Amino acid sequence: MTAELPRKTFAIISHPDAGKTTLTEKLLFLGGGIRDAGTVKGKKSGKFATSDWMEIEKQRGISVTSSVMQLIYDDVQINILDTPGHQDFSEDTYRTLTAVDTAVMVIDSVKGIEAQTLKLFKVCKMRGIPILTFINKLDREGKDPLDLLAEIEEVLEMETYPMNWPIGMGKTLKGIYSREKNKIEIYNDQHERVIVDYDEQTMLEDYEKEKLEEDVMLLDEAGNDFTMDKVRNGELTPVFFGSALSSFGVQSFLDEFVNLAAPPQPRKAGGELISTDGDTFSGFIFKIQANMNPNHRDRIAFLRICSGRFQRGMEVMLSRTGKKMKLSQSHSFFASDRETVNDALPGDIIGLYDSGNFEVGDTIVTGSEAFQYEEMPQFPPEKFAKIMAKNALKHKQYHKGMKQLVQEGTIQLYRTPYFDDYIIGAVGELQFQVFEYRMKNEYNVDIEFIHMTHELARWVTKGEITDNMTDSRKMLVKDQHDRSVLLFENEFSLRFFQDKYPDLKLSTGWELL
Ligand code: GDP
Repeated sequence: MTAELPRKTFAIISHPDAGKTTLTEKLLFLGGGIRDAGTVKGKKSGKFATSDWMEIEKQRGISVTSSVMQLIYDDVQINILDTPGHQDFSEDTYRTLTAVDTAVMVIDSVKGIEAQTLKLFKVCKMRGIPILTFINKLDREGKDPLDLLAEIEEVLEMETYPMNWPIGMGKTLKGIYSREKNKIEIYNDQHERVIVDYDEQTMLEDYEKEKLEEDVMLLDEAGNDFTMDKVRNGELTPVFFGSALSSFGVQSFLDEFVNLAAPPQPRKAGGELISTDGDTFSGFIFKIQANMNPNHRDRIAFLRICSGRFQRGMEVMLSRTGKKMKLSQSHSFFASDRETVNDALPGDIIGLYDSGNFEVGDTIVTGSEAFQYEEMPQFPPEKFAKIMAKNALKHKQYHKGMKQLVQEGTIQLYRTPYFDDYIIGAVGELQFQVFEYRMKNEYNVDIEFIHMTHELARWVTKGEITDNMTDSRKMLVKDQHDRSVLLFENEFSLRFFQDKYPDLKLSTGWELL
């Protein structure tokens, strides 16, 4: 990692097939970037990590795991956090979003905003992190650009500001016009970047010029005003058009990205903002990834640095337990050969080898005063199953596997109050499959699932639940942190319950804070 360069840390969120991988690859190319050991994506190139449980990804051609990449552009170090594309893993994506300062939303111009990813966009919006939008696949016959803007504004309740504007689309695509620079980037499929002054161009027909000038006038007069404040507060999204596959508009996007993306932001611990430039080193773990290297069954905990400076060999404390540990060579890695990190700054992500000490959401700090970055809110699960080991004699492996997979955040675990039955909760069915697969392959335990009809989880944030309030249809369980959670079968029974007990306060996971 490069000391002293300013940092910009972001993640791309998009619906599968919108072009996230293609855009990421083009960005990496422009910045001489490297993909690190966590990279398993490659459904097109066939470059899969060989780790065995990732078979599931191979079979389905989806990315379950995520990774960290880095590029340097315009004297800025850009850290890209990859996110799994499939909606069943949106909880994982959500946790990754807590570790970035900016999100880039890639939208397929043909499809517009797709329902499955809406939830994630809304999470970004709710957290007030800046969102930059890249409307991709301009080389195809897509929706009308004005309609796309209207859709973003309506669905996300966010202002838009097009930084550039397409001239034609699909077969008639001629270029994109930069509003600020009054220049045209000419479209060609040779992946060459040709930019001309609008006033000097000769390639546009009169009707194309007319249409463009009309559009731009409309945007100037009826569109939103651009202010950096609005961008940084997540109230306005700058919109870029382009085609990742043709490398068209990608560099123009990157040129602006380095200015628009937010620098490392202070994060809250115990209600207080921790400054990024204090002396105390601190960070939190937002992801734990197991078995990235099939040769050793290791786990890597991904740490987002929030303040101070990471130096190899430093002594840190795990706030949750007060345990001290030295972050020695064996703890840190970067790049495909797991090159050791010596020095890292706020905004950077480092990987720490983990032998089972860390949990997702853990804070580590230097100094003697422990503090805890705000808890990682949970994504409300929508699928539940009672589980047990098929072979009761395997209870030791069963508990070990479950503990580790829960620490990693693979699934959410609940217990019933009296019988201590285990219930797992997930956002999507695939999460169950990954859990089942890993329990079998890594811990040699066959799991029996009894799927439940419940679909909603609500944390009880105020009030007491007594036995007479619940039954098998509205069930009380405890989560990993021993908090009371009610499981309901549908919205109707939830509403009925709330009407009956108006003094109780129930909340979905991400509202907990
Ligand atoms: P992801 O699932 O969001 O990571 O999407 P990918 O980057 O894998 O792209 C999905 C498909 O769309 C692939 O077949 C890409 O080649 C294609 N694709 C990506 N960008 C463009 C583009 O600008 N134009 C066209 N026509 N296809 C694109």
